[in-house]
Amino acid sequence: MGGSLRLFRVWGIDVQVHWSFLLILAYGAFIYSGQANRMAGALYGIVVILLLFVCVLLHEFGHALTAKYFKVNVPNITLLPIGGVAQLERMPRQPLQEFLIAIAGPAVNFVLTILLLPVALLVVGLGMGSGSLTSLLVYAQSRMMVPSLDGLLVYLAVTNFALGLFNLLPAFPMDGGRVLRSLLAMAMPYIRATRIAVMVGRLMAILLAFLGLGGNIILLLIAFFVYIGGRGELEAVESRYVLKDIRARQALNREARQLYASESIDKAVDLIMTTYQADFPVFDLGSNFVGVLTRPRLVGVLRTQGREGRIVDSMIPAQEVPMVGPETTLADVWDKMMENGSRVVAVKEQGRFLGLLTLDDISELIQVVGAAKEREDKEDKQAAQSSVSTVL
Ligand SMILES: [Zn+2]
Repeated sequence: MGGSLRLFRVWGIDVQVHWSFLLILAYGAFIYSGQANRMAGALYGIVVILLLFVCVLLHEFGHALTAKYFKVNVPNITLLPIGGVAQLERMPRQPLQEFLIAIAGPAVNFVLTILLLPVALLVVGLGMGSGSLTSLLVYAQSRMMVPSLDGLLVYLAVTNFALGLFNLLPAFPMDGGRVLRSLLAMAMPYIRATRIAVMVGRLMAILLAFLGLGGNIILLLIAFFVYIGGRGELEAVESRYVLKDIRARQALNREARQLYASESIDKAVDLIMTTYQADFPVFDLGSNFVGVLTRPRLVGVLRTQGREGRIVDSMIPAQEVPMVGPETTLADVWDKMMENGSRVVAVKEQGRFLGLLTLDDISELIQVVGAAKEREDKEDKQAAQSSVSTVL
């Protein structure tokens, strides 16, 4: 995500914070600065927000570590003013795995509540002296917004409970929506489960927006995020659904232009300007496939070295280009591209190079074939790249 600062790396996951996070710190400082001692109040507000986000981070680690347990790579966790996002390379194909990954986040918050609440009540009780349980709870509530150790403990215990509960709302792609989708997917095709979850999510988004109109900007943002995020996921699932019946060999572009390793960059620039092609296979003089020159790569080279230089020094070497067989489905090709962060794959049959498949080819296919396809199928339990997030 652009504008993010990396804080640290643990278990192979980059923990980063978006610059706009500063806004929520300022907000925390502001709401507590009405105290007798403004400076101390503001500092306390910052501590409250930081601790709150430690809880959000633990929630994200709940998702991330469960995902890693199922062999899903988690490149990063990002903290934003409205919560956190754990970026998953893909959502597992098994509904049970998605269920466990989704529920692990709120579960962390409930565990934190169970740990914090007794301590909070103990500290509040010590400050209060004698009294009934009811009066203890009433007093605890009154302490919640008061800058103090007991106030802080009560605030964190209550907030973790609220966080866990709120994230379980069936507002796909929030955690509760994923729980709903995975439960539905145990009983029906994945694509229908997703459609239903997205529809319920939209209703929830409208409800949240309605509540947010009372002046809660965070709720409005979340409603927006649910609405947009749900649509994105549905498109991804539908695209995958289109792609799963097409084989790599059927999608190969037979008119593709090629380059030779010994040619100059100029040649590639010419081709890019005069054809619709953006990615080129590169061959040596013995007609062996030796690499790929992609448009982003070409742009990078032009920026640093200009039009001098040869293609052999600018291309992605063949051994770094992901490879698939001709019978691989495009859904798996798509996954391979996402997993490798690559916009091309090489299609090979017993070591012989057949051609390239590119992201452009696939998005074109999705548009053309997707328009014609409306059938459903029970085997499709596959999901696209995904992320899980918490919201406050
Ligand atoms: Zn979550």
